[in-house]
Amino acid sequence: MNCLFCKIISKEIHSKPVYEDESILAFEDLNPQAPVHILIIPKKHISTSLDIKDDDNELIGQMFQAANRIAKDKGIAEKGFRTVMNCNHDAGQTVFHIHLHLLGGRAMNWPPG
Ligand code: 5GP
Ligand code: ZN
Repeated sequence: MNCLFCKIISKEIHSKPVYEDESILAFEDLNPQAPVHILIIPKKHISTSLDIKDDDNELIGQMFQAANRIAKDKGIAEKGFRTVMNCNHDAGQTVFHIHLHLLGGRAMNWPPG
């Protein structure tokens, strides 16, 4: 499968990891949109959030738990942070392996663009 994030998981493509366990990898976004911008991905390939199955429920919870841990480690938990998962083209999804954006370190606008 020609998937950029699967290649990052297999270390075929370099990234800057901040957290890894048997089911999840988190690494710095290449083009950060905030002082903290981390991508949290499952090691299992899931193309979009529409493809999440009942069997994946625990995995999705683990992604949020990882985001919480990283936010605390980076010192942005108290002030606040945003977690975003874009789905399909209108939302701006460009990599079709689900990823939770963790953004923080600055005040966020709402509504998002
Ligand atoms: P999306 O637009 O699909 O929600 O988010 C994809 C994210 O992946 C973007 O924020 C983009 O900067 C990031 N990205 C794209 N290619 C790479 C890469 O090769 N390495 C890393 N670390 N991030 C990438
Ligand atoms: Zn993949």
